[in-house]
Amino acid sequence: MSAERLLAAGVAAAAEAVREGRVSARELVEVALARCGEDAHGALLHVDAEGARAAADAVAAARRAGGAPGALAGVPLAIKDNLCTRGVPTTAATRLLEGWVPPYDATVVARLREAGAVIVAKANLDELAMGSSSETSAFGPVRNPLDPSRVPGGSSGGSAAAVAAGMTPGALGSDTGGSVRQPAAFCGVVGLKPTYGRVSRRGLVAFASSFDVVGPIARTVRDTARLLGVMAGPDPEDATSADAPVEAYEAAAEEGVSTLRVGVLRASLDAAEPGVAARVVESLGRLVSAGATLVDVDLPHADRALSAYYLLAPAEASSNLARLDGMRFGPRASAPDLRGTHEATRAGFGAEVKRRILLGTYALRAGYRDQLYGRAQRVRTRVARDYEEAFARCHVVAGPTAPTVAFPLGAHAGDPMAMYQADLETLPASLAGLPALSVPAGAAEDGLPAGLQLVAPAFAERRLFAAGAVAHPT
Ligand code: GLN
Repeated sequence: MSAERLLAAGVAAAAEAVREGRVSARELVEVALARCGEDAHGALLHVDAEGARAAADAVAAARRAGGAPGALAGVPLAIKDNLCTRGVPTTAATRLLEGWVPPYDATVVARLREAGAVIVAKANLDELAMGSSSETSAFGPVRNPLDPSRVPGGSSGGSAAAVAAGMTPGALGSDTGGSVRQPAAFCGVVGLKPTYGRVSRRGLVAFASSFDVVGPIARTVRDTARLLGVMAGPDPEDATSADAPVEAYEAAAEEGVSTLRVGVLRASLDAAEPGVAARVVESLGRLVSAGATLVDVDLPHADRALSAYYLLAPAEASSNLARLDGMRFGPRASAPDLRGTHEATRAGFGAEVKRRILLGTYALRAGYRDQLYGRAQRVRTRVARDYEEAFARCHVVAGPTAPTVAFPLGAHAGDPMAMYQADLETLPASLAGLPALSVPAGAAEDGLPAGLQLVAPAFAERRLFAAGAVAHPT
């Protein structure tokens, strides 16, 4: 099989071919670099040709020396540009980090490299991962490869677009309120938000630290599972990373669903576009044909998830972003005194980031904290309990990943509330810290893909892979 066909076949197929000597890591990386060089969708912010070639040659040298090739030997990957890559610019799509070159790799990036992966590019995103369309990037929007007049979703739009356009067979994104799952759905690829704490956040540019999770994007469920297996596990450098054992995720994708009970969110189906709802119902049908049973479930407090999230996440962001002050990272504006320097530097944030900092600062203001922040925290607890009650009746909860297909660029410009609605279905699992997988469900409105979202109890990612592989057979 040619290097082109192997890359199209995916992460696992490419790694197997490298291991068996049917293709060299260098051949694969040259194809990926050529495709990245043709990026017509604004998906990438930086292509590291030199680093990628050196990494591919190191994989080949290790193979010749008889070393055990890793699970991702020679596989080219794109990394969302809010994950630190040693010696390679990391901007998080904000002017405030323009030109910054991290001195270390994020733990997930280091783990991918140890498994033989070849990092070829840094993917575009909404500025500091705040957004649902990848339009707020300081370096220009990403377009959906399936229809360039549409957004790819966000904030990991560049990562999803890179995979959908065939630049790389896999990518990393980050998910705070839906940023891996919703772009995966809009671009017709698979995306996983692991359980909070399943994957290290060290080296991820912080947005909202009690929500942030790094997650893989690929074309198949099996490939997504393979990536998680490499990324997952405790990290002594991240106190919120969990000690839970890393399981056989890839094997789970072969397990089937004969004993699985799937809880269906009827209210979410009713709220979705008709084509989206129809495709999700068909995906559920595939689960039933394979032996699963369906029950209706409800998350009574999910309608409050959006208000709670857009209070809690900006509150955390306003605190996290205080460190971007021109003193430690990135460019510094000049002014006669310190305060003026902070102000002039921070004027470089885009409108959405400024809105979040203002909202968050307002939410935390003295005397009003319980009214706003405290109430939002209580909603968070209620949503987590809603899931606990649902999981007493089923193994996974299923519904649409987003209520619509990808919308046109500019459709929600100047209307933040309309933009936030794109996260309606992904926010509840984010509030509860639960793992959630989006798999393509087929063509809906205007021929664009719908996504099926599956949510499982904490650390039950295996269930998601078992169900996802049946719902999205490849
Ligand atoms: N769209 C959501 C937001 O703007 C989620 C973003 C994310 O998950 N990074 O906050």
